[in-house]
Amino acid sequence: MDTEYQNAEVLVCFWGKHMVGKWEFSVRAVTVGVLGGLDPAVGWGWRGHCQYKDLRNEERAMVSFTETTAQEESMICSHSGGEQRLETPSAKKLTDIGIRRIFSSEHDIFRESVRRFFQEEVIPHHSEWEKAGQVSREIWEKAGKQGLLGVNAAEHHGGIGGDLYSAAVVWEEQAYSNCTGPGFSLHSDIVMPYIANYGSEEQIKHFIPQMTAGKCIGAIAMTEPEAGSDLQGVRTNAKRVGSDWILNGSKVFITNGQLCDVVIVIAVTNREVHSPAHGISLFLVENGMKGFIKGRKLQKMGLKAQDTAELFFEDLRLPASALLGEENKGFYYLMQELPQERLIIADLAVSASEFMFEETRNYVKQRKAFGKTVAQIQTVQHKLAELKTHICVTRAFVDSCLQLHETKRLDSATASMAKYWASDLQNRVAYDCVQLHGGWGYMWEYPIAKAYVDARVQPIYGGTNEIMKELIAREIIRDK
Ligand SMILES: Cc1cc2nc3c(=O)[nH]c(=O)nc-3n(C[C@H](O)[C@H](O)[C@H](O)COP(=O)(O)OP(=O)(O)OC[C@H]3O[C@@H](n4cnc5c(N)ncnc54)[C@H](O)[C@@H]3O)c2cc1C
Repeated sequence: MDTEYQNAEVLVCFWGKHMVGKWEFSVRAVTVGVLGGLDPAVGWGWRGHCQYKDLRNEERAMVSFTETTAQEESMICSHSGGEQRLETPSAKKLTDIGIRRIFSSEHDIFRESVRRFFQEEVIPHHSEWEKAGQVSREIWEKAGKQGLLGVNAAEHHGGIGGDLYSAAVVWEEQAYSNCTGPGFSLHSDIVMPYIANYGSEEQIKHFIPQMTAGKCIGAIAMTEPEAGSDLQGVRTNAKRVGSDWILNGSKVFITNGQLCDVVIVIAVTNREVHSPAHGISLFLVENGMKGFIKGRKLQKMGLKAQDTAELFFEDLRLPASALLGEENKGFYYLMQELPQERLIIADLAVSASEFMFEETRNYVKQRKAFGKTVAQIQTVQHKLAELKTHICVTRAFVDSCLQLHETKRLDSATASMAKYWASDLQNRVAYDCVQLHGGWGYMWEYPIAKAYVDARVQPIYGGTNEIMKELIAREIIRDK
């Protein structure tokens, strides 16, 4: 492939077709280093025009550059330039592409392709998946090909190598699609970080590229029939036999539980310690291992297309290499990773609220009552004003949490505030938006009905909102 750099800076983009101005190109993750070599990417940005090349089969691709004029650059809206982006309150729609200062124009390009993916590949199949109680494996591989999985996983581990904001684009676009079936965020941004952060070189090599490709689906199993909020009460245990471990116990409510190829299992490995937290370890259990049994798919109030399952471990023999991280450090790892899980739920919650607001705005503007549209009724207008204000205030807080987390400064109490506040708001918004739809809001054919039932679980999982308040309160009264 011919290579030509002129004033080359850095370019990172993703699988799929992208348009910048009149230029179309089709790429996977592309990292163009500075002139003269393929240095690691030093930032994100469009600079210069990219010529079209079909780079789909290239691991590292090279792109021809020509320098842009200042005027062209301002049209392209370079990330490195001081672009003026609208914040959510001033945007035409809360779900608009090109808004919010935490994002840049290359995130917008990525968002366009993610939005298209959900519109073309997910929405048309979702009701069929709701009936089946799970999504297809095919959608996972399609998402992998499109570069939507492991977006925030490091490239040298086999991930896409994008920033946290790019991962957030995938969470948000899934919420905007109102399709809760594919458990992408749990797989990419809850399960994969445990493997990337605490896994051995072999574990990373074995799982991360396959998970990025959507060929290996991940789950995490903490909750048990008798232990949810109180994780230190788990009974699933692993006993050492020679260099192996024998795992016994059961888990419940496990997202991706039926489809998963690998599940991180939280188990007790030492009962002799003064606090149970010091005797918990994590294990990587793979589909097909003798003694790993997938139970029934649970019938849920909402999240109908998501496979939430029971899992059983019966004298399951695990090699030493299945231990994730160090023995008895599992609880510490959970405490490190749970703030990200809570941030994801918060961002999903405010995005779902933005979606519901726009659905409802459209509905009341066309629905007629008493010779005018419902939107012309003043009390309806005031309700919309309240909803928009609450959503935008929450969006500002969640965006600031995303910013903090991108620079590794998001603490557990702040993440808990975001999760508790945004998921409670989502349920209040869902209630009001169904009400504004009248009887049609109660009908499954209307997206708002699905959004309403799907909202209900958000204050429950990822740590209930009561537990979030415990974590927030602990910080408030702690002697410094
Ligand atoms: C759809 C769905 C998907 C899920 N996915 C997963 C998954 O992938 N992996 C996984 O491991 N788990 C998963 N869960 C489990 C989820 O995280 C737990 O349900 C949750 O942590 C609550 O635990 P519990 O259900 O045992 O409730 P309990 O702990 O029994 O709580 C019951 C009630 O008591 C309250 N309570 C408990 N302790 C306190 C306290 N100290 N102070 C005040 N109130 C308290 C709770 O807030 C709650 O209101 C999922 C759950 C659902 C519904």
